Amino acid sequence: MTTDSREQLLADVEAYCQELRPIEELCYVEHRYNDQTVALAKKYDLLGMPVPRQFGGRGADAVSYARALTRIGREGTGVRTFFSGQTSIGQYPITRYGNGDQHARYLPASCKGEKILAFGLTEPDAGSNPLELTTTYRRSGNKFLLNGVKYLISNGGIADAVVVFAYPEDRQGAERRMSAFIVDTEGATFEAEDLHAKPGMFTANTGMFQMTEHPVPAENLLGEEGNGFRIAMGSLVSGRLSVASGCLGVIEDCLAEALSYARTRKQHGKEIGKHQLVQEHISMIEMDRAASEALVERAAAAKAESDAALADQKLFARADMFVAEAKFFASNAAWDAADRAVQIYGGRGWSELYRVGRHLQDVRVCRIYEGTDEIMKLKIASALLGKEYAAFG
Ligand SMILES: Cc1cc2nc3c(=O)[nH]c(=O)nc-3n(C[C@H](O)[C@H](O)[C@H](O)COP(=O)(O)OP(=O)(O)OC[C@H]3O[C@@H](n4cnc5c(N)ncnc54)[C@H](O)[C@@H]3O)c2cc1C
Repeated sequence: MTTDSREQLLADVEAYCQELRPIEELCYVEHRYNDQTVALAKKYDLLGMPVPRQFGGRGADAVSYARALTRIGREGTGVRTFFSGQTSIGQYPITRYGNGDQHARYLPASCKGEKILAFGLTEPDAGSNPLELTTTYRRSGNKFLLNGVKYLISNGGIADAVVVFAYPEDRQGAERRMSAFIVDTEGATFEAEDLHAKPGMFTANTGMFQMTEHPVPAENLLGEEGNGFRIAMGSLVSGRLSVASGCLGVIEDCLAEALSYARTRKQHGKEIGKHQLVQEHISMIEMDRAASEALVERAAAAKAESDAALADQKLFARADMFVAEAKFFASNAAWDAADRAVQIYGGRGWSELYRVGRHLQDVRVCRIYEGTDEIMKLKIASALLGKEYAAFG
């Protein structure tokens, strides 16, 4: 991406965030989905930031997109999570693994906001180990019939199409390899439900859905049959970079809020920022920020290099590991930063009325989704030790 177009993208993101902020804050305190997340993203042409221009996107490279997500992350993990579902793990697998017909049918419409996308890997009994999923498909004439339940899916209750992973119903052993499908969500055979019992991210949609003999046209098989696991793992690198970038934004916002409050709130006759123990919190948030920024930038640069040479497995493995490190570190640093910012705010901090309190509630999930802390650590260790040391198969 040229410097000019990167600057223009980030200027549009800035304008989007400023217009969205008051609406997001109101929706948050009222615990309701923010439908302006999509409407305003459409206004500022942000619904397909890294999608190539010929398909209606902005053609952003991984570094530009990561910086955009960092800025969006300051507005809250819920807003940024919408972009993960729509773009990082929604449009990405279609762009990367789809064919010309699939590009034409899904990418321009999703860039215009006419189609909301999601990524359906997790199931009630298959989270950290997606190989244990039980959703199945079978061929029936010119379509596939899908059966199964997908759980905890970002945008899952509002999506028009979901990238879904399933095993063949009629094959066993080495032949039983998962495939990926682009699944349209219309019809009585696809039943979606919003999940409301969550302690944060109220403005974003998290859903589950059940497919019962749900027909999927044969031309909606994504990539080659049996290649679903590779597609899922490739897409999750993009998703994890989104989480890491968004967490950096959370830390930046916590730092800005903490500095402002520490300069204005007075106790014991002076601004609390003049108390050394409050300064300790501020210095630790700044170190969370600086270290996360370095790891996110390194990961985004590695992802951009890998995207530019897709057949290069070494570049992919490097990006995969750098992104895992950035995701683990930034999500833990954001949790620490939000916790310290809340501490600086005192009693007011423990409230949804203040940004720091909302960040604390929302950002905890970043240590869980797109691969938990534990899975990131195991992934990093086996990348260093070698495959024969992998903790699980
Ligand atoms: C708000 C939200 C949005 C989400 N969005 C999506 C989405 O869009 N698409 C999607 O497909 N999924 C999504 N997920 C699902 C998410 O990716 C999973 O929750 C996550 O991968 C963990 O799976 P699990 O919840 O089943 O936990 P489990 O896998 O049951 O893990 C429970 C605990 O055991 C640990 N554990 C498991 N295996 C090991 C091991 N081998 N070694 C050490 N520890 C282990 C885990 O780290 C964790 O601490 C979302 C989840 C949430 C909460």
